[in-house]
Amino acid sequence: MTQTVPFLDLAAVHLDLRDDLDVAWKEVLAHGRFIGGPEVASFEAEFAAHCEVAHCVGVGNGTDALELILAGLGIGPGDEVIVPANTFVATVEAVCAAGARPRFVDVRPDTLLVDPAAVEAAITPRTAAVVAVHLYGQMADVDALSRLASRHGIALVEDAAQAHGARYLGRRPGGWGAAAGFSFYPGKNLGALGDGGAVVSDDPALVGRIRRLADHGRSPDDRYVHEVSGRNSRLDTIQAAALRVKLAHLDRMNAARVALVERYRQNLPSWCVPVARDPAAEPVYHLAVVQVPDRPTVTSALDANGIGWGLHYPVPCHRQPPFARYADGPLPVVEEAAERILSLPLSPGMAPEQVDLVCEVLHDVPI
Ligand SMILES: *Cc1c(COP(=O)(O)O)cnc(C)c1O
Repeated sequence: MTQTVPFLDLAAVHLDLRDDLDVAWKEVLAHGRFIGGPEVASFEAEFAAHCEVAHCVGVGNGTDALELILAGLGIGPGDEVIVPANTFVATVEAVCAAGARPRFVDVRPDTLLVDPAAVEAAITPRTAAVVAVHLYGQMADVDALSRLASRHGIALVEDAAQAHGARYLGRRPGGWGAAAGFSFYPGKNLGALGDGGAVVSDDPALVGRIRRLADHGRSPDDRYVHEVSGRNSRLDTIQAAALRVKLAHLDRMNAARVALVERYRQNLPSWCVPVARDPAAEPVYHLAVVQVPDRPTVTSALDANGIGWGLHYPVPCHRQPPFARYADGPLPVVEEAAERILSLPLSPGMAPEQVDLVCEVLHDVPI
């Protein structure tokens, strides 16, 4: 059946922006600087300002952003990087791609975000960094993590791929640790019209090393000198142009997400428990995640009524085939949550009545 409430309607999100997007890419077509065009530097400045940090460098995608942060920090073979097992696999791929060993830790049962106590317990003499993953649009406890990181002399890296515009104790990702990596995958809160990513940071030396690594190791002073063996991971001009248009609407779209999730909270049946909000956090709800008993019955009812849904993430990273060898043992909170989590439809253009419809269908599920 055709869906009555799609999980995410990306075409609808872009309808109101069509005219502005048309102007933006026609300008890129006209000047022809498809790599490193003026829109890239403009977007970098605007996104750094939005994050309330000093620097931003556009890169190819969010996974590269994280890998480049680790490489820029000099983290590689022989180092361990602590990551929560509840994240998209890209966080772990970035650690492995940098040559380091991921060390998985459990999450807090209320927020399903990385548990600072578990991080502290996992620190070894080889630990070089911890990745705070701001999952579902809510920032992890970066206050505890940044203090713990400086106490142990390790780097704090933020995976902000799901948290554009979120805050913790008033501050956005990028200002808490060494740097934050963002993804502009189309479905993210700030999405390009294809792949894209960025690193934001207050550390000019780190940003300089990342900019160089991402552009074939090229010297900032002489384009024919390649100072290190780098790679190609750049933000396309046409994506930067589209992102500039969309950044102007990010706060409004995040506010719409917050209102929709509030409406879910008020109307969901009592057995459908939304992920808790940390009182210190101001989430931007990339996803509307609830925990439910008997998930197959719930998803069948949603399917039967044409309501989209997703699972983020049904297989914790330490249970995924390529990463299972890094598992140190069971992680009970994330393993139990994996059976119960369910992501409900959410996008900034969604009508409040659609939330009500989803809630009505859920109220009728025999649980
Ligand atoms: C999307 C995502 C990434 C990776 O971003 P890409 O742009 O797809 O490479 C990394 N971490 C998390 C938590 C994500 O959701």
